[in-house]
Amino acid sequence: MDRRTFNKMLALGGMEVGSLSLANPAAASPVPSPAELSKWPSQTYRRFSIDVHVPDWDPQLLGGFDAAAYVGNIARAGFQSMVQYTNSHVGLCLWRTQVGHMHANMKGRDFFGEVVEECRRRGVRPLAYFSVVFDNWNFEHHPDWRILSADGNNPRLASRYGVVCPNSPYRDYVLACVREIVGNYDLDGMFFDMTFWPEVCYCPHCAERFWREQNAELPRIVAFRNRIIHGYDSVDDATVWGVIEKHLPPLVGQAENLLKASGEVV
Ligand SMILES: [Zn+2]
Repeated sequence: MDRRTFNKMLALGGMEVGSLSLANPAAASPVPSPAELSKWPSQTYRRFSIDVHVPDWDPQLLGGFDAAAYVGNIARAGFQSMVQYTNSHVGLCLWRTQVGHMHANMKGRDFFGEVVEECRRRGVRPLAYFSVVFDNWNFEHHPDWRILSADGNNPRLASRYGVVCPNSPYRDYVLACVREIVGNYDLDGMFFDMTFWPEVCYCPHCAERFWREQNAELPRIVAFRNRIIHGYDSVDDATVWGVIEKHLPPLVGQAENLLKASGEVV
């Protein structure tokens, strides 16, 4: 069994991995054991990735992409592994897909597949990058997948990247893409970028899930902690100092009273 077949079985079989000959390292199959599969990252010291998010409104954008020259330079520089973009925050697919929307300038080519093949030819271990949530194409074409703030607007409407909600059918889209990528390419791993909700989401899918799991409406008050986690640059200093000066002292007093009431020494 070659690596591509193995990957395909993983993609299609899902939880049936345990039934493969992996469970028996002594079997005649050339499939490496899980221990062997996990060894290579610790022996790989130089990994490379180019962080690029390229749209396709101009034919020159990626139109002259040369995978052989690209991977050749990376291999000659001594890199042992690379994380290659299958998509990016613009949401266009850089692999030959029947699931997503392909970059217009691929024109029948397969940018990602070409890179993977060049990597294998030159002994560079290929990994697939996949951007989730930040996805302009799906944001534009599936308004019902958008992350919505409490006021019903998408908080990223005015920014470079649209964000879509993993509680929407977008989740199924991602799973289908990943199955296709893992099933069709000879990879050593995947990297998922942006695996978080950038805002507290009030889309109908989140509301439905919250109702189903908590039997309640989504809370309308967003805790301060949510803003601190994902909005460092948008939190006004005055707000932070307001909390420190006005809210923390009474909170300390309340905590001390509780400790005293419980018999603890303060
Ligand atoms: Zn949502």
